[in-house]
Amino acid sequence: MILENYKNVRDILKKAPAQFGLPPREVAPTLVLVTKTQPIEKIIPLLEIGHRDFGENRVQEAAEKWPELMQRFPDIRLHLIGALQSNKAKHALQLCSHIHTLDRPSLLAELAKHVQPHHKIMVQVNTGNEPQKAGISPLDAANFIAQAKKELGQKLCGLMCIPPADENPAPHFALLKLTAKQGGLSELSMGMSGDYALAAALGATYVRVGSAIFGVKKT
Ligand SMILES: *Cc1c(COP(=O)(O)O)cnc(C)c1O
Repeated sequence: MILENYKNVRDILKKAPAQFGLPPREVAPTLVLVTKTQPIEKIIPLLEIGHRDFGENRVQEAAEKWPELMQRFPDIRLHLIGALQSNKAKHALQLCSHIHTLDRPSLLAELAKHVQPHHKIMVQVNTGNEPQKAGISPLDAANFIAQAKKELGQKLCGLMCIPPADENPAPHFALLKLTAKQGGLSELSMGMSGDYALAAALGATYVRVGSAIFGVKKT
């Protein structure tokens, strides 16, 4: 079931621009499989068929699951896609190659202390200005991007967003793309199970997909 879903998602990603009447893209976005709450047994078949990009939203859970898998598959790229406490920044950088959720100056300072040349860091932008959601306000994004570039250099590579659940995500994806372009950044982390095809059509370079692959957890 999981492998079938995986092939399906890959197929949809490839056809996404055409689905929305947009010109084809040279490369499809990197599919980041979101494995939060998923046990190792469900992840191994995906590693065995060669998938290498995975996302976790908590450092603690990543530390419990992934070192063992990285011993077997050393070329895994682990993406942190959830809120990051400043005091866990160092540990996050030890485990993850990609951090999608830089969202404030104090975290920037901590990441800058420990970042290595292979890391890729993205700024989370709160495109809907939702009070309960993390991310830099779109109005402050230009300044924060400039500061982050100063401190992280080339390791700062792009932007990430989570559009409001009850809105058409397209304007949010477009805003993220424009903000990245104005900031001279090339990577766009946008699109989840409900909207990854649209995000891919609109220029995502990373899509973060969980339930479309692993199913929805019953509670
Ligand atoms: C859980 C999560 C995802 C994946 O969500 P699905 O809808 O299950 O695909 C993507 N991004 C972030 C930040 C998440 O926390």
